[in-house]
Amino acid sequence: MAELEEQFAALTGAPHAVAVSSATAGLHIVLAALGVGEGDEVVTPSMTFASTVNQIVLRGARPVFADSDYGTLQVLPAEVERRITRRTRAVIPVHFAGAPADLDPIRAAADRAGIPVIEDAAHAVGTSYRGKPAGGHGNTAIYSFHPIKNITTGEGGMVTCHDGEFAKKLRLLRFHGIERDAWKRYGKGGTPHYDIREPGYKYNLTDLQAAIGVVQMGKVKRMNERRAALAARYREGLQGIAGLDLPESPPWPHEHSWHLFIVKVTSMDRDAFIGRLAEYNIGVGLHFPPCHLLSYVRERFGTKEGDLPGCERAGRRILSLPLFPGMADGDVDYVCAAFREI
Ligand SMILES: *Cc1c(COP(=O)(O)O)cnc(C)c1O
Repeated sequence: MAELEEQFAALTGAPHAVAVSSATAGLHIVLAALGVGEGDEVVTPSMTFASTVNQIVLRGARPVFADSDYGTLQVLPAEVERRITRRTRAVIPVHFAGAPADLDPIRAAADRAGIPVIEDAAHAVGTSYRGKPAGGHGNTAIYSFHPIKNITTGEGGMVTCHDGEFAKKLRLLRFHGIERDAWKRYGKGGTPHYDIREPGYKYNLTDLQAAIGVVQMGKVKRMNERRAALAARYREGLQGIAGLDLPESPPWPHEHSWHLFIVKVTSMDRDAFIGRLAEYNIGVGLHFPPCHLLSYVRERFGTKEGDLPGCERAGRRILSLPLFPGMADGDVDYVCAAFREI
């Protein structure tokens, strides 16, 4: 586990990396370490995976949703700033689909409010923003090694951060809150003694998973290059199809990890289109149904259709195409031909 943490710190440029059992677990301990709780608010896009919103809510806090750009699906910095109040304890932008969110203005808004930025980098192993990797800009960042992500350990995740004291807190919360430091002076090397000052969780990555991760780290560049080649092939193959919006790249300098290739169906009902694709044996994903329209979020927080126009317009039309490093060029061509026919 220590070896994977070192590799990750080197990849991202963050001085501290803490391996956890999932990105969701990572977010849980980050919010806990920040003391986010009852009466607090956390600003995040609605166009994100529900695990973020769940973790905010499970801490007793209120998720406050910022709208996203229809074309890039990235959260809008002005929207983030507009939603910050004196109750806001953190903002959580997402590096959507593997392209980076516009971190500088988001960070500037958070700095003005004196609150931290937590980067959801679940799609962003290999992503960079203005020449520096996700996680390397001074913020806390959370990565996922879930089976569908750019690298995997079966299940797993990583938190990177720039503050040694914060990393120490995360390490305690990751493993029961167990502290051995105070006992070290009594023995040479290991000691069976420990104390717990704050109860913690059981969110460590295992060494077995980390061993897979170490090998995956050696392949990440090659796998991301393959993803980029497949994405370029999709772009070429789908060019000029009426009624289909291709993913827009953010205008700021970046490297894209091409975690997802998301198109928007504008000429017919998206779900009917998914049905037609099934006839060609093509499975697709939905990243993501807007979180402010999930049943429990509507019921508890009174969010509704019409709150976030960019995100909702995209949410009705989005569709994630098959994309993984082992995919053959011919598979991409097959998908493109099916799109043309439909
Ligand atoms: C996958 C994902 C997560 C959660 O990752 P886990 O490791 O499965 O907990 C969080 N945020 C986003 C944007 C994701 O895609």
